[in-house]
Amino acid sequence: MPSSTRPLSSGGPDAPAGPPATVLVGRAVVHGRLQPVEIAIDEDGWIQSVGRVRSGRVRHDVGDRVIVPAATDLHVHLREPGGAGETIAAGTVEAAYGGVGLVGEMPNTEPPVTSLDRLEEKEAKVRGRAAVDVLLYGLPTSPRSVADLARRAGAFKLFLSPTTGIADPPTAEARDGILRAIAETDLPLAVHAEDPGAFDDRVDAADPVEWNAHRPPSAEAQALQLLARAPSTVRLHVAHVTVPDSVPRLRSEGRSFEATPHHLLLSARPGADARFKVNPPLRSEVDRAALWAAFCRGEVPCLASDHAPHPAETKQLRFDRAPSGMPGLETALPLMLARVRAGDLPLEVLLRAACDRPARWLGQPIGRIAPGHRANLLVVDFRERRRLHARGLHAPCGWTAFEGHEAIFPVEHWRDGVAIVRGGEYVGATDGRVVAPEFSPRSRAERSVRA
Ligand SMILES: [Zn+2]
Repeated sequence: MPSSTRPLSSGGPDAPAGPPATVLVGRAVVHGRLQPVEIAIDEDGWIQSVGRVRSGRVRHDVGDRVIVPAATDLHVHLREPGGAGETIAAGTVEAAYGGVGLVGEMPNTEPPVTSLDRLEEKEAKVRGRAAVDVLLYGLPTSPRSVADLARRAGAFKLFLSPTTGIADPPTAEARDGILRAIAETDLPLAVHAEDPGAFDDRVDAADPVEWNAHRPPSAEAQALQLLARAPSTVRLHVAHVTVPDSVPRLRSEGRSFEATPHHLLLSARPGADARFKVNPPLRSEVDRAALWAAFCRGEVPCLASDHAPHPAETKQLRFDRAPSGMPGLETALPLMLARVRAGDLPLEVLLRAACDRPARWLGQPIGRIAPGHRANLLVVDFRERRRLHARGLHAPCGWTAFEGHEAIFPVEHWRDGVAIVRGGEYVGATDGRVVAPEFSPRSRAERSVRA
């Protein structure tokens, strides 16, 4: 990574190496092998070196626990402004507990983030209130709004179908213009890929099985067909892939994509209540198992939660009236760490999907234990398995669709070389930053001011 992408005050590999401020001692996956490591962290919270370190003002030894990079959750709905219950402050504390150091906050709030003014209003809500770093998506409604939003946005989101806060997704014609404009900005674009043309309106959905029939797997296949026409220069990422066939297809097209813990671990069960209503729907057990197998083989580049913390009372409504979506920011990584402990999922595959690849897509120097990366790290004790219960979680919505599932929460979470979770308790400050990709117009402008 070129040194120009780091803040001027940072150390990093090219800076004169002063004594590290902190040396973190434990075990980590380095060169594909879990081995003892000493991680030297400089004054500004950057990883200076990984290897034997002679001195350091503070040595913090975590014994045989495992140090991993903090995760990036690139798909989160904190619903502020306008949402009931959750806030940016509460959501980023959930992230801290769940081992997520960067939250990609979606723009379909009330009002939606469709202009530079709205983006700046949302930035103001993050400043001084966020426990972890936040990257803000913009919601383009026209090619002109793309240029406006690109000045400060971290990424774009495009919906092909109606969803919470989006009654009218752009028409096909408007969409092509927006895609061309986004290609010119260089910013990443995440797409909710369901083609409403494939929805079956005759189905009166009363449970997740019928919801899956109403918004069938073919809606995803058709949406991918539409997206295949997007300019190849767009940094396209397909949100919440649910259909096993989409995996080889997107891989062959060289596109980034994600799967969510709920599509990987839960399937559509007859008679299940509206907590299990989500878009795209939970699929059949056969589809779920095939998607999970592909994920465990490392064929799904990114893990993301699609955290949608609807208040419990709205999810107690009749299935057809309840909103779609479920909370998951705090539980995504812990659920997966438990699958690693169970032997289903290789740790390296998980770390690539949860930490490295989402950070690369969003142009962030995090997600790896290597010099030149920020010391956003977790300490995991694989012996500390527990069963998930909503009352043990921190989301104001107070419910989880993963009740009773096994999870392993990080015992420590470090942000920029400072512990924000220690002994499983949040001890951080609310000084999370608003970040943008290093290749974004915003970062380029900020670098030229500093130079
Ligand atoms: Zn979403």
